[in-house]
Amino acid sequence: MKALLKTSKNPGFDLFDIDAPSPKENEVLLKTQVSTICGSDLHLWEWNQWADDFVPRLPLVVGHETCGEIVDCGSGVNLSKLNLKIGDLVSVETHLFSGCSCSPCKNGKKHLCSSGEILGFHKNGSFAEWLTVPVDNCWKAREGTDPVTASLKEPLGNAVQTVMTQPIEGKTILITGAGPLGLMTIAAARAFGAGKIFVSELQAERREKALGLGADHVIDPKNQNLHSVIEDQTKGKMFDVLLEISGSNQALNDGLASISNGGSVALLGLFPSTVNLSLNENVIFKGLTINGITGRLIWDTWNHVDSLIYEKGFDPKKLLTHSFKIEEYEKAFHLMEKGVSGKIALFPG
Ligand code: NAD
Repeated sequence: MKALLKTSKNPGFDLFDIDAPSPKENEVLLKTQVSTICGSDLHLWEWNQWADDFVPRLPLVVGHETCGEIVDCGSGVNLSKLNLKIGDLVSVETHLFSGCSCSPCKNGKKHLCSSGEILGFHKNGSFAEWLTVPVDNCWKAREGTDPVTASLKEPLGNAVQTVMTQPIEGKTILITGAGPLGLMTIAAARAFGAGKIFVSELQAERREKALGLGADHVIDPKNQNLHSVIEDQTKGKMFDVLLEISGSNQALNDGLASISNGGSVALLGLFPSTVNLSLNENVIFKGLTINGITGRLIWDTWNHVDSLIYEKGFDPKKLLTHSFKIEEYEKAFHLMEKGVSGKIALFPG
């Protein structure tokens, strides 16, 4: 099968012909329909310090935001018991939990399983024609769901999880970074009742998109003073919640310097290297609550994502700007690097 691999600790990926995987015990074989590119795939493409620390072994088939059709099962899989059948389209929860007796698994936080792995980082991922995943990681798509929508449920879940980690109803919010995930976070914050939403983003096209998705005010942090703009707009009250979705040390520091005392912070963006923070001044004496966000609550967040799509009418495909065949991956990742695209889909077939 065609598969996109990271083979060395240098920038880039390579397309190879490799053997298709066979489903092991409790796994299903999926025929990949589409995989969308995540900002985290870009860390692997560039191979920064975080990628080097986080990925244990190469070669690795990369990619994780995906959906596929169930075509085969390994031993121990009883599809009908899980209300699934051969031919069903499923999204994939990328945090591969073991359901073990570790404290997070026992306490409803399977996404933090201490022996868990992440698809496309620790185990071969989805930029390939075929993919095996534990059947427990499959989320059935409702009848008629477009495969791109099914693939985008995973990142939309990151956004929903970021928004739901602290109370946001009626609160004034700053979102730093309006890449595809920041844009989804704006839509989720709007849907979950946020008050005024400020968005700080370097790229003009993305600031424009942010306004289209429900931001009240956008800031260009290169040419405007974030603190002064928000101070002026809020008559000195500033903002209650910082949702950091850029992975930029500068953006985090700008946000922390301006948030109100007692505010809360959700960190979703991944920083390419160690972060410098003025903890005393900007966190401790401000009495902030800081939440790290990884993945999604399994399956709470997925239910909220489905409600956002099917009941509240949010179409994540609005964020898709480009589609490519897997062979055109270089074009796709160069576009990602420029930071001007929305979501990009790679079709393996
Ligand atoms: P992206 O790289 O497309 O978007 C980041 C955006 O931040 C860009 O638009 C960039 O212009 C903007 N930005 C950079 N510096 C800025 C600054 N100083 N001020 C304001 N904006 C700034 O990535 P994405 O796909 O939108 O993902 C966002 C982040 O979320 C990435 O770091 C990704 O690795 C991370 N992520 C985390 C998880 C998790 O589970 N924690 C899951 C998926 C993605």
